Amino acid sequence: MQLDQIDHLPRSLAHLRPDRVRSVFPNPTLIRLTGDRPEPLVLSTLLHGNETTSLEVLKHLQRRYESTPLPRSLMIFVGNVLATEQGLRHLPGEMDFNRIWAGGDSPAHALAQQVQEAAMGVSPFASIDIHNNTGTNPIYGCVNTLRPADLDLAARFAPLGVFYLNPATTQSVAFSKICPAITLECGRSGDVEGLMAAIELVETIMRLDHFADHPPDPRSLRLFETVGRVEIVPDCTFRFDPKPADLNFDAGLEDLNFQPLPAGACLALTSRPHLPLRVVDEHGADLTSDFLELQTGQIRLTQGLTPAMITTDVTNIRQDCLCYFMRQRPLPERSGSV
Ligand SMILES: [Zn+2]
Repeated sequence: MQLDQIDHLPRSLAHLRPDRVRSVFPNPTLIRLTGDRPEPLVLSTLLHGNETTSLEVLKHLQRRYESTPLPRSLMIFVGNVLATEQGLRHLPGEMDFNRIWAGGDSPAHALAQQVQEAAMGVSPFASIDIHNNTGTNPIYGCVNTLRPADLDLAARFAPLGVFYLNPATTQSVAFSKICPAITLECGRSGDVEGLMAAIELVETIMRLDHFADHPPDPRSLRLFETVGRVEIVPDCTFRFDPKPADLNFDAGLEDLNFQPLPAGACLALTSRPHLPLRVVDEHGADLTSDFLELQTGQIRLTQGLTPAMITTDVTNIRQDCLCYFMRQRPLPERSGSV
């Protein structure tokens, strides 16, 4: 898999549609741009081909800095252009470009290795990987360490953050070993709020001289971590309305994203004698009975928790999962505070 390398943002980006991305970037591409502050900000774009906010960020940068110096050097990776052309997360049977950053034998792994080595040679200031969700979620940043700089980066993007260590093969986990790193979840592709927040963060970090050396105030960042992943058992029919099915969710289920729910909250109704939902941890261990119980057709939470990344997209649910259960993770102590 070829990595093209260029030193400018092509003007032809201006009106580029995702399905035409290869007219500008025929292959995955590394773009190095020189700016006033030499330590580059790494931007990672289009790792998932159907998540297009990052392409809009590139268009903004091209317009904004066509004839104005960049406040900071940039190293931009334009990732899975083949999947972007097709409007897919990744091509069928090919690697997910956000699972290739911890070594492996495929051509995509070699590509990621090449990008990481290029970054390690230039002491990046920070790394920002730009993504979208499929369901209706507020915007949030994901970090992979509780270092003050990474938390500062998250708080500058949104008041909501997620901390995770698994999967360990993502871009931000790899780059968190090189510099402060974040994954931006900018809502659905095309959401203006997420795009504006991503652009503002990139603009801010290009002008920033140093990150905070203490954790953010808990009022400026609520940090969550995943405690379980919720799947619907494979042979179970489900609907997001009251029409006949094995499992019925409320039509407004996605509104519960990042809303704390108390123990006893009802998540769904089922006509089945056994729970048709399964909760698993990151290693696949079954945690269902820790979180859910079935009472006269109602599926209830056995403890307070916060659901997130809920999707009502049937294909996503079947291929991935319904949602994640999260709990709030306290921020590290602010030294010197009372
Ligand atoms: Zn993504």
